[in-house]
This record gives sequence, C-alpha cells and structure tokens, in this order.
Amino acid sequence: MKSKTLTKDKVNIITLGCSKNLVDSEVLSGQLLANQIDVVHENKKLDHNISIVNTCGFIDKAKEESINTILDQLELKRRGKLEKVYVTGCLSERYRSDLEQEMPEVDAWFGTMELPLLLKKLEADYKKELIGERLLSTPQHYAYLKISEGCNRTCSFCAIPLMRGGHVSKTMEEIVTEAENLVRKGVKEIMLIAQELTYYGLDIYKYRALPDLLNRLADVKGLTWIRLHYAYPSKFPLEVLDVISARTNICNYLDMPLQHASNAMLKAMKRNITREEMSELIDTIREKVPGICLRTTLIAGFPGETEDDVDELIAFLQKHRFDRVGIFNYSHEENTTAHELVDDVPAEVKSARAQRIMEAQQEISFEKNQEKVGQILTVLVDKKEAGRYLGRTEFDSVEVDNEVIIHSKKKLPIGDFVQVKITRAFDYDLEGELVD
Ligand code: SF4
Repeated sequence: MKSKTLTKDKVNIITLGCSKNLVDSEVLSGQLLANQIDVVHENKKLDHNISIVNTCGFIDKAKEESINTILDQLELKRRGKLEKVYVTGCLSERYRSDLEQEMPEVDAWFGTMELPLLLKKLEADYKKELIGERLLSTPQHYAYLKISEGCNRTCSFCAIPLMRGGHVSKTMEEIVTEAENLVRKGVKEIMLIAQELTYYGLDIYKYRALPDLLNRLADVKGLTWIRLHYAYPSKFPLEVLDVISARTNICNYLDMPLQHASNAMLKAMKRNITREEMSELIDTIREKVPGICLRTTLIAGFPGETEDDVDELIAFLQKHRFDRVGIFNYSHEENTTAHELVDDVPAEVKSARAQRIMEAQQEISFEKNQEKVGQILTVLVDKKEAGRYLGRTEFDSVEVDNEVIIHSKKKLPIGDFVQVKITRAFDYDLEGELVD
C-alpha cells in the first residue's frame, strides 16, 4: 500500500452537471486542502495521481457525459497516468450497483451524502469546523451559495429527489457565516442556489424563511450582488418581492423554472399550479419589482404534449415576455412518476418543439436587448477573452445569461464594477463603451 509519507497524493476533481455539484466539489477541495492534500480542479497537466469524478444524473445527456468522463479517466489509469479513479455525485448515488458491475476498474463509488467516507478513502479527516469553507473554482469575485439540499416536491418528471433526498435547509447562521467567508476571499456576488429556494426554512423553522434570510444576507458588508436561482412558483412567498425591492444589493433578478404553461401539461407534471395562477404571479412580480429580470426554464416533449400545448406555451411567453429562457428536451427517467406514462413524443419532435419555442423567445430577447441601447448600466467585469473584456449586468447570471462586451482603452481589473454605455444589442448579448 502506498504510504503518504513516501509519495504525496495530488487529487484532481472533475465536476459535471449543475452549480450545486460545483459547490460540493468546492467543499470537497476545502476539506482536502485542510488535510494537507494537494487538490486541483479540471487539471489538464496530468500531474495528479488521483481523479475524482463528481457526476450528474439529471437527464440522459448528462448521464452520458458523466459516463464518458469516467471512461476517459479509466483509460488514463489503464495507461498508467493515474493511480486511482473515484466517482461521486448524483449518477453514482442513483445507479451505483449497476455501475459497479459495469465499471469494476473504478476504485470506489460514493453517494451524494458520503463526503466523510470519500475523505476517509483519501486518508483525510472530515473537519466539521470547516463548514462554510470552500476552495473556490470560480473567479474570486463570484460564488454560488447553496442554502439547502434536496427537494420535497413531487414534480412527475424529476429524478432529483431520488438522488438528493428530501429538503434539508442550512441554518441562517451557517449561510451568513459562509457568505462572510466568501466576502473575505474577495467575492462580491453570490448566487443563491437550492433545488427549490422558496421551501427554505419550512423544515427547520416551520415557516418560509427566505425573506428573513435575504435580509440577513443583504446586511453582509461587501456583498454587492445577491442573485436568486430556482424558485418554485406554487405558493411563492410574496414577501420575497418586498425584500428584493427594498434591498439595493439584491439583484432585480429571479430565476423561476415554470417547466410549461399549458394546464394539461402542468397537471401531468404535477406542478401544483395552473397557467392562470402563474400569470397572476408574474403580473404581481413585475408590479412589485418594476424592471425585474425574469428567467425561466421549460421542458419540451413531455408525454402527451401536443402542438396545441406548445402553442399555448409560446403564447404565454409572448404575453409575459420573459427576459431569459432555457429549455430541455424531456428525458424519461426511471422511478419518476412520469415514467409510468408513455414517452410518446419522438426525439426529433421534442427538438423541433424546443427550437420553435426558442425562436419565439429569441425575438423577445432581441427586442428587450434593443431597449437597453443608449442606457448606462453597471457591469461586473468577469474576464478578458481574445482582447475583449466581458462582463454582466445585475440582470444576468453566470454562463446562462447575456454577456456585455466592454470596449475600453483603459485596463480594467477583473471583478470590478464599471459603468458601460450600451451601444449595440444582439439576440443574447450586449456591447458597450466604458464610461469614465
Ligand atoms: S421543484 Fe425542482 S428539484 Fe424539486 S421535484 Fe420539482 S423540478 Fe425537481
């Protein structure tokens, strides 16, 4: 057996899937570092001896990507470039027994709640006192902050509760401490994430505590932008809107996945809300927070979906003019209640519908972006790429939303807020000049 005193381990973590997985990888890195183990993310240099693949098991495409990544790592191991390959995350949680048989060369598999076991395998101790300490893999000026784990909802298409379990909120103290730690490291923007943000607190405080949590986070000095991702529309706590309105460091931004807008589909998806109720909610949001940027995600090709359902969805998008829209093709997942239905929309029809929906949204997005031309907006400088600075406004989250191309004769520090006059607008991006 290899002794740590003879050869020092260097661990590479590869993260697939969503921002929640990324946070788990960052927590794992923080723990390894505290145990004096070298750790890197997505290391291309191949100077590590252990790989940990943090997998995603959300939909078919994500599963395929995770499996291919594990196979790539096993190939490196076969060629003698790696000593160990460990697998963790959602795919491992969901399909461990099958995968163990199919890929016996993987040295060990871990579920989503098995961080202490994974650390033990690496001869590291799980350090409870590190709660809230992470090794960021994002640029130092922004970070994701997970406020809860799991989900208590029963959306018929969703496999997440199978992999992440029921909803467990972190305490407000824990979250505020984590936010303060992040600010100390230079973070100016945090993106609050959870499977379902609005359920926050119901388990531990017995009430929907998101508004209180937001107020406490907004008090953290140095936090300039707080952004809300993944709010469930049914029984949405409207006080959240008052807090967004009142607190200047909470972005005028809300990511609310609606999944569909036809009543037949919403019912089959078990979303506990009707199109009319969603309409009313969106009107209230826009009324209480004028100028808010609304992002949503949708599913195309759910069992039983007709072209009429898609027309209804498009009409809904046109009526409410969402600022940002993402779309997935329906994926027929075992052990979900939707799996009992017939997956009757052919793959090419799902894709054609998704495209039709996105074409309608593209027009809306273009028109909304045109309205920004001539405005002076605060932009957070994210990076420099191919000689151009790229940033985001408070209306845009990382990776999924618009970017602003900033023209500047001056050198701009990454992570600084600057004023930019928008001069051109495209379907999904903006372009502008630095205002001195
Ligand atoms: S609220 Fe989101 S995570 Fe929870 S079951 Fe529904 S789709 Fe899945």
